[in-house]
Amino acid sequence: MSNSDMPAGKTNFIRQIIDEDLRTNKWDGRVMTRFPPEPNGYLHIGHAKSICLNFGIARDYKGICHLRFDDTNPCKEEQEYVDSIKEDIRWLGFDWGEHEYFASDYFDQLYEWALQMIRNGQAFVCDLSAEEIRQTRGTLKEPGQPSPYRDRSVEENLDLFQRMKDGEFPDGSRTLRAKCDMASPNLNLRDPVMYRILHAHHHRSGDKWCIYPMYDFTHGQSDSIERITHSICTLEFEDHRPLYDWYCDTLGIYHPQQIEFARLNLTYTVMSKRRLLELVRDRHVNGWDDPRMPTISGLRRRGYTPESIRDFCDRIGVAKADNTVEIQMLEHCLREHLNKVAPRYMAVLNPLKVVLTNYPDDQTETLEAVNNPERPEDGTREVPFSKVLYIEREDFMEDPPKKFFRLSPGAEVRLRYAYFIKCEEVIKDADGEIVELRCTYDPATRGGDAPDGRKVKATLHWVSAAHAVDAEARLYDHLFVKENPGAVEDGQTWIDNLNPDSLKVVSGVKLEPELAKVAAGAHVQFERLGYFCADAKDHAPGKPVFNRAVTLRDAWAKIQQK
Ligand code: ATP
Ligand code: MG
Repeated sequence: MSNSDMPAGKTNFIRQIIDEDLRTNKWDGRVMTRFPPEPNGYLHIGHAKSICLNFGIARDYKGICHLRFDDTNPCKEEQEYVDSIKEDIRWLGFDWGEHEYFASDYFDQLYEWALQMIRNGQAFVCDLSAEEIRQTRGTLKEPGQPSPYRDRSVEENLDLFQRMKDGEFPDGSRTLRAKCDMASPNLNLRDPVMYRILHAHHHRSGDKWCIYPMYDFTHGQSDSIERITHSICTLEFEDHRPLYDWYCDTLGIYHPQQIEFARLNLTYTVMSKRRLLELVRDRHVNGWDDPRMPTISGLRRRGYTPESIRDFCDRIGVAKADNTVEIQMLEHCLREHLNKVAPRYMAVLNPLKVVLTNYPDDQTETLEAVNNPERPEDGTREVPFSKVLYIEREDFMEDPPKKFFRLSPGAEVRLRYAYFIKCEEVIKDADGEIVELRCTYDPATRGGDAPDGRKVKATLHWVSAAHAVDAEARLYDHLFVKENPGAVEDGQTWIDNLNPDSLKVVSGVKLEPELAKVAAGAHVQFERLGYFCADAKDHAPGKPVFNRAVTLRDAWAKIQQK
């Protein structure tokens, strides 16, 4: 598919490069991308951008996208992360088929290439410590100082590298470095470390190795081995590209084209895996899938849908310049999707008892409620109605200001799908707290309209007390109080910007009976209160637990009007 056949809005500078490459037959018509996560944490919404980009290109150009785990650091990587990454990519709606690879599967090949470079006088074993290497690296203004070990003979280098591999030396005592260019203006080219000694167990290669290749000595070659055409990565790797090019040229191997794009940043959250790990480890949140986390698993549990995340990634586009996207835009995408698909129900978060004094004591009737006004084909359901009801406490004011149109003494409102009711009396307890409203209903208004044409200015949601099912609701706010959590005052850290009110647990929520029957993971709208998701872990029959994914208020529309 050429770019001109692409749906509007989807094109970007990377697709334009691919179009041009196809036109000039640069890669023999092949389009092969990859998504290369390091399995040292859970995926986040930033990764979703990269996933949609790489898998989306493969899909639209009838190419292939590999999933490759860049697992060169045995100390931080775990099988749990590998499993979660695969689950999250599949959930987002992408499939790598048989193309699942691990950089660790290339360790033998990388070792061979290291030997080749030593034999060709292009690599040497260096006895400097990591700190000494740093100190002799030079600055942007000054060249680095060559290592005193740079001119070791090939034989000595081969012998020492062999003994490094055999486990003779302690961690950090030696490295293998490329003989590149200590005077290069690009610091990455100043004799970079290729291998380090690390007596550590690897999640896949076990204890086979005690030397491990550096990420920079692995990534470009892995792309080369897999014959990737377009190696798409984030901007911070722009300075590494000359080194990847140098390795491929020095080794005389296939050479993919690296293209950099700007990473996604979102307001009111953090995105680096190091910080997310810290939040989990220090229990600022309840695990990687805490619904406040920007992780894919957190967003899923919160109530995000794959469609809404893909839509978001489409809308933010792909560019070369760093920017920060408003989190309200992500919420807007979810709201738009759930508005189309989520069935509506009634639930009362903060119940206030209403007794209909003129309603027969032991009568129950069933009223018909629309499941989704956006999708008439979803039909209707029955909602029980009886003498004692719950309404939202915030929907009543004893002494209302002028513009308050909901319930107050003497005022009349509509109960959704039911009747008009009028507040006749307010009952309080000994402390003066309102505990009950006595109201009358108008039997002529069944279904919600008055035959005499009389109007009301508000429609309230409600639940029949005798039929209500108790539930827990978890209401979320942004994880941080600042748009940019990294912006801190003196003596503070980003942790100090955590929002202490990011989670509010509400118990004693009253649900209409049908709502209590939905399955864990189901997306619903609580009328007037927001979109909710039955919690994937804690929701169970008889013990409903709902996460509020978003409120109904569209903060994104407001931001755009500014
Ligand atoms: P972090 O900086 O969050 O620790 P990372 O870059 O170390 O992330 P990787 O596992 O190496 O995480 O990322 C896999 C791929 O996802 C890389 O190609 C990387 O460029 C891309 N990626 C990571 N974060 C973002 C982001 N915020 N926006 C877009 N792409 C991202
Ligand atoms: Mg990375």
